Amino acid sequence: MPAIPSLTSADVPWRCPECHSALVTEHDGEPWCDRCEWNLDAAPASNAPSRVDRSLRRLDHKAGYDLSTTLFRTLAGKKAQPATVSLSEIALVGMTALILALLIGMTAVGLHLVITASLLGKALGLLLVAVAVVLRPRLGTARKVLSDADTITEAQAPALFAVVREVAAKVGAPMPHTIATTSRWEASTLVVGLRRRRILLLGLPFWTVLRPQERVAVLAHELGHFVNGDGSRRLALQPAVTVFGTIADLIDPRQVLAEVRDRVNGNVRPSAALLAGLVLLPVVNTVRGALLLLHMGTHALAARSSQRAEYYADDLAAQAGGSTAVVGLLDVLLLTSRLKTRIGTRARQKAGVIGWRETVENTRAEYATSAGQLRQLSIREDASIFAAHPQPGLRVRMIQAAPHREPAVVLTEVQAAAVDAELAKYEERYRREIAEHW
Ligand SMILES: [Zn+2]
Ligand SMILES: [Zn+2]
Repeated sequence: MPAIPSLTSADVPWRCPECHSALVTEHDGEPWCDRCEWNLDAAPASNAPSRVDRSLRRLDHKAGYDLSTTLFRTLAGKKAQPATVSLSEIALVGMTALILALLIGMTAVGLHLVITASLLGKALGLLLVAVAVVLRPRLGTARKVLSDADTITEAQAPALFAVVREVAAKVGAPMPHTIATTSRWEASTLVVGLRRRRILLLGLPFWTVLRPQERVAVLAHELGHFVNGDGSRRLALQPAVTVFGTIADLIDPRQVLAEVRDRVNGNVRPSAALLAGLVLLPVVNTVRGALLLLHMGTHALAARSSQRAEYYADDLAAQAGGSTAVVGLLDVLLLTSRLKTRIGTRARQKAGVIGWRETVENTRAEYATSAGQLRQLSIREDASIFAAHPQPGLRVRMIQAAPHREPAVVLTEVQAAAVDAELAKYEERYRREIAEHW
């Protein structure tokens, strides 16, 4: 089953208007030219429920595509630099300060009303405090992040800690305070809580199916975020990039609509309050649309610096793990949905890590010839100003545009097997979870 069936000229009555090559497509998506990339920017079909959501999605795709391809052109082939503070970030931090001041003000006025005002005033005061609480900035907590993870100590996993320490030293990153594993397809770092604890999460099914050098690359990328101070940057921008979306969700009228529909279907008379809600619907929808546009605007402002930070982390990954390993890692990411489905099947057949790895290697071999097209397709399909990372296809190109790097940290098969052995005790429990959910 090839990933991207090339359309023969019989299937498509036209060729690329730019370079006259045959067009390609996947399933029934918009065709594009894999030679000159004509029409690669076409928006994927959206199944969003409402017209407003569909137009916002189209706008997001266009803005995300333009932003990521422009940023790529700005950075490709230049020496990788950590993201510096930009004008848009200063604007967002200013907005964060304003939001915090507003929330503190709302809380103060709310509490004052609760204590001194009449009954109606007290209710209004409570509402103000409640809204401020919902919109408060979140620092995250280690407990929450680790709630469905298994924390690993150095005594339990000396080989794993040795690799992490070596990679951290190579990229100039501090060690994480906590290393934990999960049953998820992930590798991530977070900085949480008032004490800003650094956490490294390595999802067992993701980590173990990577080739040893790719594991070095993924560690270097993740630890690279500690070098960048990306945690503090995210924290400073968070209120500005989340507040409008949260308010838009709070006033989402779909709840009102669903209730009216239920009552009409059940021949129950809708209450006066519901009917009033219905009358206000156009107003609420307009306000919600405006809030969502603001939400997108703040994300567009933040996306550039977060994508720059990802490219920088990728460059650190290439320095430590080598360029080939980073490209391999990104090609695995491109196959995520296919790999998860197949690993799920293997897990249901009672296969553990060895079986998952075999499936992943087979799948990689199967798609090796369509890698170029899969990378191109990701530039179209993953284009969004909400995406934390640039599209894998652009990340591959950024690595290829830089000078080729040989690995500075080598993880041998023996070392990799020692780490596997340390993590083996989670394998069967995770296998059952994967068998159920993937
Ligand atoms: Zn073409
Ligand atoms: Zn990253």
